[in-house]
Amino acid sequence: MIHVKEATDWRTGLQKRIKEVLGKSLHIRHVDSGSCNGCDFEMSALLNPVYDLQRFGVDFVASPRHADLLMVTGGVTRHLEEALRKTYDATSNPKMVVAIGACACGGGIFGQTYANCGGVDKIVPVYVYVPGCPPRPQAMIEGILIALDRYEQLSK
Ligand code: SF4
Repeated sequence: MIHVKEATDWRTGLQKRIKEVLGKSLHIRHVDSGSCNGCDFEMSALLNPVYDLQRFGVDFVASPRHADLLMVTGGVTRHLEEALRKTYDATSNPKMVVAIGACACGGGIFGQTYANCGGVDKIVPVYVYVPGCPPRPQAMIEGILIALDRYEQLSK
């Protein structure tokens, strides 16, 4: 369970961690690989006046070539499998991938079927799993912070 007060502390630390780890702002590309849009609605709240992540040096970009991190929602449908693979290949290093929601983490209610590959890690490597159906924006912020920690550890 994530409490709002803790989330406030995370948000305060977010700008500091982004600067420490990346030395610049953090650019995120959102990829919907087959979600019901519940996770996407929660993610869009990250840029609303309540969370306003742009003030901490976070921006969502239109091209994976400009992105440091992919936030992927939904289990991967067979129809979008290739698109996800190509998006990952086009992403700039360090290619951090955060799986958002139960479907992205492991297929969720859609599972693995003729139409669905299952979780995101069936197609591309995943840094961090953020469970929930859908996860709250605070959990997504924690996922970003964990991804930064992981990248820092891997690059030592
Ligand atoms: S985790 Fe829940 S809200 Fe998110 S895409 Fe799957 S069913 Fe929709």
